[in-house]
Amino acid sequence: MFYYSFQVVFKEVPKHISLCFSICGCPLRCKGCHSPFLFKNENGKKLYKPDYVKKLKSYQNLATCVLFMGGEWEQEALIDFLRIAKQHHYKTCLYTGLNHVDLSISQYLDYLKTGSWQASLGGLESRQTNQRFTELATGKILNSYFQKNT
Ligand code: SF4
Repeated sequence: MFYYSFQVVFKEVPKHISLCFSICGCPLRCKGCHSPFLFKNENGKKLYKPDYVKKLKSYQNLATCVLFMGGEWEQEALIDFLRIAKQHHYKTCLYTGLNHVDLSISQYLDYLKTGSWQASLGGLESRQTNQRFTELATGKILNSYFQKNT
């Protein structure tokens, strides 16, 4: 699995500071994609397990969630990384452009953002969006955390 960037992010998972890996190789090609650099593996660096574990350990007192922006197209590798995150007591989240992911992946997730990018509908901050941010244990849709009160 190849990743384009690693960042500590504050808003992508409500109430969590997250370690965010943006994964290369996205096959979905949403029209108007804001991250076309994620299409090719060659744009990223290989995510090696020892480096990943090192990052998880070094942020253990700061961050509480590990977030994958994509990667469901490499199911086995993604499951492996999610399991490791769980073993290190992190919550886990996946942002996918699909409307559904297999249970073999979602059983290792606490949060899931689904839905392709559709410019006319907007992202999670839009009330018209086709995208959903779900807390999987309760089935609650948490989109309201991303929307400004008007
Ligand atoms: S899922 Fe995200 S990265 Fe992939 S094509 Fe759609 S907007 Fe781009």
